Amino acid sequence: MEVPIRTLNNGVAIPMIGYGTWQLTDPKVCYDSVLCALEAGYRSIDTAAGYGNEDSVGRAIKDSGIPRKELFITTKLNNPDRGYDSALKAFDISMEKLGLDYLDLYLIHWPGRSNYIASWKAFEKVYAEKRVRAIGLSNFLKHHLESLAQQTDIAPVSDQLEYHPYIAQAETESYCKAHNILVEAWSPLMSGKVALADPVISAIAQAHGKSNAQVILRWHLQSGRRTIPRSVTPARIRENIDIFDFSLSLDEMAAINALCVKNTRSGPHPDEFALD
Ligand code: NDP
Repeated sequence: MEVPIRTLNNGVAIPMIGYGTWQLTDPKVCYDSVLCALEAGYRSIDTAAGYGNEDSVGRAIKDSGIPRKELFITTKLNNPDRGYDSALKAFDISMEKLGLDYLDLYLIHWPGRSNYIASWKAFEKVYAEKRVRAIGLSNFLKHHLESLAQQTDIAPVSDQLEYHPYIAQAETESYCKAHNILVEAWSPLMSGKVALADPVISAIAQAHGKSNAQVILRWHLQSGRRTIPRSVTPARIRENIDIFDFSLSLDEMAAINALCVKNTRSGPHPDEFALD
């Protein structure tokens, strides 16, 4: 099984599927699940200071014995740590918890109102110091991206957005495509909620002899989006990375795209969340 690799706009290679760790707050569950994902072939882990599990993720990475250079690790700046000095301090703390001497991708978790500019300047500093190989964003809409581009020097490599069959991010996604910013789908399976059991998805899954989750993850991949599915179930962890032996037709892609009229978020709207 070969996970496709994409080259980010700064030349760094990123696997198009990673393993998500939100809500894995129990240290043993997190450790076991990350280790299981690494054994299953994932080489990229998505965590965040706000998930409270960077230390468990770090222990699993270390105990996996996989050479550091084969791994791609993402973490995110927590909302209370936005700002220049506080972001620099938060970066050091995340690195210590993860037990890493460099990071692959650091993201601003939520834009808030305007202090993402100060945070980004701190990101530019740790990037210039080569302590992180790439810097990016999460939950930034087109207007945030435009404002950032006007006020800062280094372009983000990626933007992580809520993205599953029941929501489209057309405006932000087309801005990202035009500026060579990779879109990452968070909650790619809608956190296991309704979209996962949609009858349109079920019919396509049946036709291919695949699971609904595999069809959704394949849809993301064929749409050019990186995904970071989460599961604590070993069989599902393996299933979610086993999506490279089939492909969806244009009609099937269109049928899944059409589900976005439901326009249902599972998380908050970036213009309304964590604004302070
Ligand atoms: P997902 O959309 O990946 O869905 C996870 C849920 O789906 C779990 O309940 C899991 O159950 C279930 N599931 C997983 N695989 C399968 C399968 N093959 N068949 C049936 N059910 C399945 O969840 P998340 O919301 O966690 O999103 C993924 C990642 O995105 C997060 O973990 C995090 O890393 C990132 N994220 C980023 C955010 C941001 O603001 N940047 C916000 C939210 C998430 P079970 O575990 O019981 O197997």
